[in-house]
Amino acid sequence: AKHNGKSSWERFAPQMKELSHERLQMESRMRRALELDEFELWYQPIIDAATGRVTGAEALLRWNSPVMGLVMPDRFIPLAEETGMIIPIGRWVIEQACAAAKRWEEATGTALNIAVNVSPRQFRDPEFVSSVQQILTACDMPADRVELEITERLLLDSSIEAATILQELDATGIRLSVDDFGTGFSALSYLKSYPFDTLKIDKSFVADVLGADDNSALVRAIINMAHSLSLTVVAEGVEEAAQATFLSAHGCDFLQGYHYSRPIPDADFLAWLRIR
Ligand code: C2E
Ligand code: CA
Ligand code: CA
Ligand code: CA
Repeated sequence: AKHNGKSSWERFAPQMKELSHERLQMESRMRRALELDEFELWYQPIIDAATGRVTGAEALLRWNSPVMGLVMPDRFIPLAEETGMIIPIGRWVIEQACAAAKRWEEATGTALNIAVNVSPRQFRDPEFVSSVQQILTACDMPADRVELEITERLLLDSSIEAATILQELDATGIRLSVDDFGTGFSALSYLKSYPFDTLKIDKSFVADVLGADDNSALVRAIINMAHSLSLTVVAEGVEEAAQATFLSAHGCDFLQGYHYSRPIPDADFLAWLRIR
């Protein structure tokens, strides 16, 4: 239908209204979610490629909403970022993740590492570094068992500011990792100039690792480059045994993905650790 008599705005407007209504509703629900204790952290194990042992876990946020059900992070983190709510939520994430790692240690006798995702808005909060330090002290968590996962996106704008924060974090002994490596930033020089410890190869590369030769060559090149810069390499999105075999054969240090376990709730993760 070319013309139904309405301007394009009029035809578009109802949809816009609906979208912003939905957004507002989500926003007000999210404001209460923290106090109503609706957020949950799920955990996915990270495996030492050489020994097959679990060395730690990545904490992944879920919103268990009584109205919307289990909401995945891609659906609410962007809004949490825009509204700044990611700052208190993100602080809660770090607290919960450290407390969980402590509990696992008490329950199993093994000191596991914990990785948490940090979004740009949260990272730029002037209180961020001190709040992280406070949490570590309160949980009695050694800094070098905590890894903050940051995407390359963060380095794109005001990189001088980012450099300062990264250096401050590095000075606390916390580990820093580049998440989704290969999907964002094109220049690689930043890897040399920032104090990263770990590089996480994005799952889109891992998915293709056994396909075309080009992709396997790319992954091997990433591993070699990371090692020559003294970075540890984690492959995410490992779904098949053959991918794990390929990656360990080419020196990838750690593996993570559905092949080992999907992200699971805290209690299930502890049970998983015990039967392993
Ligand atoms: P991410 O940091 O890249 O996390 C990895 C995502 O891949 C997770 O999705 C995980 O469930 C999924 N995944 C793990 N193994 C496999 C696999 O073998 N195959 C496939 N296809 N996928 C796998 P999830 O949990 O939906 O999280 C999505 C994104 O949301 C995360 O991507 C991260 O960027 C963000 N996120 C999650 N939790 C937090 C948080 O606490 N704070 C912030 N700021 N962002 C978070
Ligand atoms: Ca991550
Ligand atoms: Ca470091
Ligand atoms: Ca990732």
